[in-house]
Amino acid sequence: MGRMSILVSPELCIGCRGCQTACKEWNQLSGVKTENRGSTENPPDLTPNTFNKIRYVELPSETNMVRWLFVSQRCMHCGDAGCMKICPAPGALFRTDEGAVAFDKDKCVGCKLCVTSCPFNVPRYDEKNKISKCHLCAERIANRLEPACTKTCPTGALRFGERDALLGLAQKAGYAKVYGQADLEGLGAMYAFMDAPKIYGMNENPAIPESVVFWDNVLRPLAYLGLAGAVAASLVHYVAFGPKKIEEGKKDE
Ligand code: SF4
Ligand code: SF4
Ligand code: SF4
Repeated sequence: MGRMSILVSPELCIGCRGCQTACKEWNQLSGVKTENRGSTENPPDLTPNTFNKIRYVELPSETNMVRWLFVSQRCMHCGDAGCMKICPAPGALFRTDEGAVAFDKDKCVGCKLCVTSCPFNVPRYDEKNKISKCHLCAERIANRLEPACTKTCPTGALRFGERDALLGLAQKAGYAKVYGQADLEGLGAMYAFMDAPKIYGMNENPAIPESVVFWDNVLRPLAYLGLAGAVAASLVHYVAFGPKKIEEGKKDE
């Protein structure tokens, strides 16, 4: 089996959110209390119990009163994954044979560094301070089952398969751009777009922060050699939390 991926086609999505429900069902994730915010888009963002959600984009249209775009938000399973680059806990984040970026909660140390290094703001943390995100249904696909969300989608807006085959499908269908084809060494969740990515609320040029690349390429090997452990830890702390702030009331002490 080659690298497996999901192809998202917002133009085919009807916003039924069956994919959100199927993910919760399969992963036994509890519901999130929602509120009426003027549309049925809910919750407003990913949560530790919401691995995927549909973003509703409302645009003016000349032919209809309004043009709706429904865009699936989820982990992109980046070929070059910022979360894996920064993670200091061996085995907490790992790549499966099928190309998914999965995680092991028992090995996660709850440092939240992956949050600062993800170009798509994906990782969340559960009540035990452990990483929580889409894992591309790693156990299902290892057993040759497709992910719960793609299996449920009634319109073909979410399709699962070998990455090269999905790319061919999107190109044959004449989509102007396949978002994620080459970004970050290829995303494991690709998007067939008719317009510019920003119309769909997507980052035009996703990139891993330079400080994270420097940590992975230079400081981590040095730290392993025991020569720069303290310096590297200070830098990582600075990247995550910024410069130390003086607490109110302690300025004059
Ligand atoms: S989208 Fe974020 S969490 Fe998912 S693989 Fe990429 S860097 Fe990691
Ligand atoms: S691939 Fe699996 S874990 Fe990821 S959003 Fe779909 S159902 Fe949820
Ligand atoms: S199941 Fe398919 S059609 Fe329904 S919201 Fe999800 S992606 Fe859209």
